[in-house]
Amino acid sequence: MSEAIAVLNAGSSSIKFSLFEGAELNLVVRGQAEAIHTAPRFVAKDPAGTTVSTYAWAEGSPLRHDGALQHIVEFVREQLGATPLAGIGHRVVHGGMQYAQPVRVDGAVLNDLAQFVPLAPLHQPHNLTPIRLLLERRPELPQVACFDTAFHRAQPELAQMFALPGELHDAGVRRYGFHGLSYEYIASVLPQLDPNAASGRCVVLHLGNGASMCALSAGRSVASTMGFTAVDGLPMGTRCGALDPGVILYLMDQRGMDARAIEKLIYSESGLLGVSGISSDMRTLLASDAPRARLAVDLYVYRIGRELGSLAAALGGLDAIVFTGGIGENSAEIRERICREAQWLGVKLDEQANRDGKSRISLPMGSVETWVVPTNEELMIARHTRRVLHA
Ligand code: ADP
Repeated sequence: MSEAIAVLNAGSSSIKFSLFEGAELNLVVRGQAEAIHTAPRFVAKDPAGTTVSTYAWAEGSPLRHDGALQHIVEFVREQLGATPLAGIGHRVVHGGMQYAQPVRVDGAVLNDLAQFVPLAPLHQPHNLTPIRLLLERRPELPQVACFDTAFHRAQPELAQMFALPGELHDAGVRRYGFHGLSYEYIASVLPQLDPNAASGRCVVLHLGNGASMCALSAGRSVASTMGFTAVDGLPMGTRCGALDPGVILYLMDQRGMDARAIEKLIYSESGLLGVSGISSDMRTLLASDAPRARLAVDLYVYRIGRELGSLAAALGGLDAIVFTGGIGENSAEIRERICREAQWLGVKLDEQANRDGKSRISLPMGSVETWVVPTNEELMIARHTRRVLHA
């Protein structure tokens, strides 16, 4: 009898879920409970995107992760019918130095993972909440943690180093890189799409609310823009990206800001939102005539262009680039602007294909193949979960 695997991706205000079934891990249903602290609502859709279930709680009746999880578990149970649930795979942003592979979670592993909360304060505590709740209530249900850092653990040591005293490197102060599940998924589809890129030098641009870029050499991560935490690298929706560490000292000494105030500034008040003063949402900024909205988008594209050069240097050249994530998959305008910045690297955009939403968006005579590939982190988690459970 075929079995099912559920995938959970818990954030600060939402829990997303997907249910996969059968040998091919076909998607059965996906959805989320969102705004769980304010005006909670639940929606589930079939693979074609048709809504199959909704529920809204009364406004001002905070549901929290506990209630949201309960609703999802009940819904999944109904969907499963007689199909057995093999286990649940979780997205966990930080696996630290120890966890270079997905792992089956028990109480000891959970305690380990809690140590990385300070390294990913926006994500890690929320990622762990449903694991803890399920361990308490359904201890017999196998759970697997899949890490956004794991794919990058095979990077060359130099790519993982800061120029800090060695003792700090040994203690784990190093570049981890994130969005690894997304990059691993893209690397897994590249062989069918573009065998040259799959065996060659490729930069993947994961441009969503969080944004980073990864250099793949023969499908393996060799460098990425995110570092010790997911605040490094590119400017994002509300995160600042790479920052001279001297700015932090200045803010402490001259502005009297403490760690929590700086954390709020660099994680929640910067990036597209901070520069524009208008929104963290790329659609809003692209639709705005406000000079500061334009400036935010200009800075975003400029920083991506520079990082692309840096990652191409790490690869010693470039055979292909891949756009993914909410902005990468949906914004022809941002892709066009990035490709214009990257002409010197040999990127030649097919503007019509780009506007038409095609998968290959480079002209035939360009030396760098350019692709748009929707990411599928949930499927990657389901694959890992199945493998770990059957190992
Ligand atoms: P997350 O990192 O939270 O998973 P997503 O990958 O869903 O985020 O990306 C969200 C971002 O994608 C938002 O900034 C949103 O404005 C942007 N986005 C989605 N669709 C479009 C579009 N058609 N044009 C421009 N930006 C878009």
